[in-house]
Amino acid sequence: MASKTQKNAKELQKQLFMKKKNSGLIMTEAEMKTADKFCENYKKFLNDAKTEREAVKASVEILKKCGFTAYDNKKKYKAGDKIYFVNRGKAIILAVIGKEGIEKGVNILAAHIDSPRLDLKQNPLYEDAEMAYFKTHYYGGIKKYQWTAIPLSLHGVIIRNDGKTVEVNIGEDENDPVFVVTDLLPHLAQEQMKRPANKIITGEELNVLIGSRPFKDDEESELVKLNIMNILFDKYGITEEDFISAELETVPAFKAKDVGFDRSLIGAYGQDDRVCAYTAMMATADLKNAPPKTVVTVLTDKEETGSDGNTGLQSSYLEYFIYNLAESFGKNGREVLSASKCLSADVNAGFDPTFGDVLEKKNSAFVGKGTVLTKFTGAGGKSGTNDSSAEFVGYVRQIFDKNKVIWQTGELGKVDLGGGGTVAKYIANLDVDTIDLGVPVLSMHAPFEITSKNDVYMTYKAFSAFIK
Ligand code: MN
Ligand code: MN
Repeated sequence: MASKTQKNAKELQKQLFMKKKNSGLIMTEAEMKTADKFCENYKKFLNDAKTEREAVKASVEILKKCGFTAYDNKKKYKAGDKIYFVNRGKAIILAVIGKEGIEKGVNILAAHIDSPRLDLKQNPLYEDAEMAYFKTHYYGGIKKYQWTAIPLSLHGVIIRNDGKTVEVNIGEDENDPVFVVTDLLPHLAQEQMKRPANKIITGEELNVLIGSRPFKDDEESELVKLNIMNILFDKYGITEEDFISAELETVPAFKAKDVGFDRSLIGAYGQDDRVCAYTAMMATADLKNAPPKTVVTVLTDKEETGSDGNTGLQSSYLEYFIYNLAESFGKNGREVLSASKCLSADVNAGFDPTFGDVLEKKNSAFVGKGTVLTKFTGAGGKSGTNDSSAEFVGYVRQIFDKNKVIWQTGELGKVDLGGGGTVAKYIANLDVDTIDLGVPVLSMHAPFEITSKNDVYMTYKAFSAFIK
């Protein structure tokens, strides 16, 4: 279309070209202060919630304070009611009942609260060279070499043979001991360093050092192991066989920290995806009035291993929850799902200039440029992904712009360089319009992941805008 008054190139560029500025150039000082404050509570959540079970507990505590009550499927709920439902202690759904009929659909936010880590094997304890160790099996996609020579804490539950549940959390308190996977000294690592990077430390070498003093006694063998077992018996009343019915996870023992002289970044373990879990939960919990549509926010388990199992989103628990809610209003669950919309709340790779050649600059997300909208993930020729529709992308970006959310588009790396997925496809498969939205992360899946405070806050703002 020719313009009547000829514009110069500068004006025309301003009108026609895409511009995505650093959030620091757009946000006011006051809003950045708000973002910093929001992130103080986020850091506390990260420290309290190092595993999926702890994330559920910490969430319930926050939700109760915000007026949420445990879901009762016999109860009739009305607009504004706030409820939560815990799935086996490892996943949680929260909902705020909307003003419109539920058959008009619900707005879903879906994040995950499991993160890569080292799980203990079911028979983990052994002694070698008069030191005691735990055997582990890593969980999720990790660079195994990153998990050596850093302080680790131990979290989880043990179901004893008498049926009692023992909760374990060692290594987080300032006075607690920590544990460690040892690595080989460089002096003797000539052969190790020739191994391919994925085998510099192998899965079976991820053994956690847990003690070295023997039980003072006579001539028995495995006295160091015995001493550890004796300590565990005193503390938890467990015997070696009780490990078989335990879920124990070792995770980095360090706390969430500000990163950078300007304190603009957060470094912490497990930000994938507790950063989206926390922002989605708080956006839901902070709703001042009953939203137009019912909001259903799910913080799920098992995303990092493919969403299988009854606490992952390939199971039916989210579907059942929505069906039950629909039935309590005398409506059909299928009808509700087909009319629903979802932001699959997960992180994406932030552009890292040190490794710039794995991302294509025009289409990748940048740390500090806001929350990232990802139309598709997957690998190869878009396999294994929910490729969101243009219509739904259009719907979402209008909401963001109207509400002054700073956002950008992203993709998971250059074409054919790798890939990955989120829970988006499992929700989309329920006939729900779905797209990925989340925070760009540096060093994703490393023991210490990096996010930008502005991006964290913009993600919270995006979720709020979507559901309000
Ligand atoms: Mn994730
Ligand atoms: Mn992940």
